[in-house]
Amino acid sequence: MTQPDAAGHDDTAEHEEPYRGRWWAFPPLRNALISGLVLATAFVLERIEVIPVGIAIGLYVVAALLGASHWGREAVEAIARPRVNIDVLMAVATVGSAALGLWEEAAFLAFLYGAAEGLEEFTYDRTRGAIRALLDLAPKEATVVRNGVETIVPAEELAVGDVMLVRPGESLATDGTILSGATSLDESPVTGESVPVEKGPGSDVFAGTLNLTGAVEVTVTRTFADNTLSQIIHLVDEAQEEKTQTQRLIDRFGAYYSPAILAGAALLAVVPTLLGGDPSVWVRRAVTLAVAGAPCALVMSTPVAVAAAIGSAGKRGVLIKGGIHLENLGLVHVLAMDKTGTLTRGTPQVTDLIPFATTDPEELLRVAAAVEASSEHPLAQAIVRRAEADGIVVRRADTFEALTGAGARAQLNGKDVYVGSATLFADIGAAIEDKRGIIDGLQEEGKTVVLVGHPDQVIGLVALRDEYRPEAPQAIQGLHHSGIRDIVMLTGDNTRTAAAIAGHLGIDQVRAELKPADKSRAVTELQTTLGPVAMVGDGINDAPALATATVGIAMGTAGTDAAIEAADVALMGDDLRTLPYAVALGRKTRHISRQNIVFSVLILAVLIPSAVTGWLSIAGAVLVHEVSEIIAVLNGLRARNPAPPPPTHHESHL
Ligand code: ADP
Ligand code: MG
Repeated sequence: MTQPDAAGHDDTAEHEEPYRGRWWAFPPLRNALISGLVLATAFVLERIEVIPVGIAIGLYVVAALLGASHWGREAVEAIARPRVNIDVLMAVATVGSAALGLWEEAAFLAFLYGAAEGLEEFTYDRTRGAIRALLDLAPKEATVVRNGVETIVPAEELAVGDVMLVRPGESLATDGTILSGATSLDESPVTGESVPVEKGPGSDVFAGTLNLTGAVEVTVTRTFADNTLSQIIHLVDEAQEEKTQTQRLIDRFGAYYSPAILAGAALLAVVPTLLGGDPSVWVRRAVTLAVAGAPCALVMSTPVAVAAAIGSAGKRGVLIKGGIHLENLGLVHVLAMDKTGTLTRGTPQVTDLIPFATTDPEELLRVAAAVEASSEHPLAQAIVRRAEADGIVVRRADTFEALTGAGARAQLNGKDVYVGSATLFADIGAAIEDKRGIIDGLQEEGKTVVLVGHPDQVIGLVALRDEYRPEAPQAIQGLHHSGIRDIVMLTGDNTRTAAAIAGHLGIDQVRAELKPADKSRAVTELQTTLGPVAMVGDGINDAPALATATVGIAMGTAGTDAAIEAADVALMGDDLRTLPYAVALGRKTRHISRQNIVFSVLILAVLIPSAVTGWLSIAGAVLVHEVSEIIAVLNGLRARNPAPPPPTHHESHL
């Protein structure tokens, strides 16, 4: 086995290159195949009495050595450590059979175990290697413009700052930013989204994506080795080898279980014989027990399913950074979501300008924009954008200060001007009671109200609306369908606005007016009251909450290392509908792994007594045992495709 697992096999093979060739050329399978042929030949020739028994035995020994060529080495390594694992049990059984003169059985065991192991290892490597095929999507060379001359250079030689020329129909060799030209791109290799995306100057573009319509010049921002596609492949590769909680448990159990089976077999061979039993009967039963008791299927119950799920998710732009996170995704019933930028587009628009004092709307906007010109906040940017669109020359106010989670303050003509929430204005002692009605009304429409003024005089208010993502209602419905009981919106916005939006989206609970630090506290609180929590955010602002959550999911992470770093699960694309997919994938993997565990424990529960009572022959034990292992592997492969969420109709926008 390639994957590390203390229960069964080798754990030195970490980060080994997965095998990518044909199945019959895979050494363990090739040897098992030849072993099977030799075994079958010897068996037939012996039965029809073409060869003498001596030659037949010689051929059986050859078949056994070939069959065990791969796992036998691992058994020897384990014995040298010393440690008892599945390979040791199988080696003891093979040698035991041979010692009893059961040459056929010994060869059959070595061959069949070798074949099953080879097949399982091949499948596992295939599953792990599949993600690498993505790398073939990025071309091996690119057209670069240097000193006005077009040259073709190998992709590995592209340097940051080079300008690539990408024509329609060509794929990008590495990541970059569009310098000139506009086009639409198929970004599915990176984000999993099949709908083409429009891009123009300044847009980020990724390796492996296909340029569909226009010729563009792209400034290289990352080398071939560092680009997003290589990063995805690398992360998925590593994640597929990481163990889940279940696997660790099985490993710990296996460390005691396999020696116990070996001890049981030894007792079975010795004790009844000492009590006067027929040694050939009891040694035979002991050998059968060593085979029957080996927990092969149990050990395979999770890793194939996990590798299959993580690999297929990676191809859809969902990076799951380890088996544990996949398992956690399948476990959570509570999902917390950031509002701004996650449920909404994060680019609010000004909808209302309501002056209170002697000012006119234009004066109100001018003052607001003067303060907000120094702020990075999305609300601030929206206000400045609107002022510019209305032809107002925005004059930046002095001594700007951001009041995190509340608003901002600056000086205009020597006087303090505040811009921010009603709570902020109440805190600075402004009289806003008579404005309550109008503020509440706007907030109930799902708008965010920003007040503008001084502690002794409120000049007016600006209302803004952040459109929710069109796919949000469908995603929420899909999440409920995938078994998420509670969806909780976390936001710094006020309660009324948040509740209005939540109502439209079908969100169950709202935690509003949270300061950035409160979000991670809210996650902790949800964990203590409702159980494990998945948190979805943009990965940069929400990093503390993502880190606190049982599983932190960052959205729209293509090209943003910090966001990928902060998350346990990174959605490369920007489509909320991948969330129900990821949850369903976690659920299905857990389900399959549990199925496999129950199945393999049941098989052991039947095989072990059958072996001890002599009801089962060595060959029978080998057959049932290996078939059950193959069933567990094939069942694990089903984790590639979760059931799709049900089709839903689109609700109208807010
Ligand atoms: P979130 O990103 O979750 O919406 P923030 O913590 O960024 O929340 O902001 C919380 C609230 O503080 C906003 O809804 C707004 O009312 C107010 N606020 C913060 N910064 C500004 C700003 N620069 N201009 C206006 N209002 C602001
Ligand atoms: Mg936010």
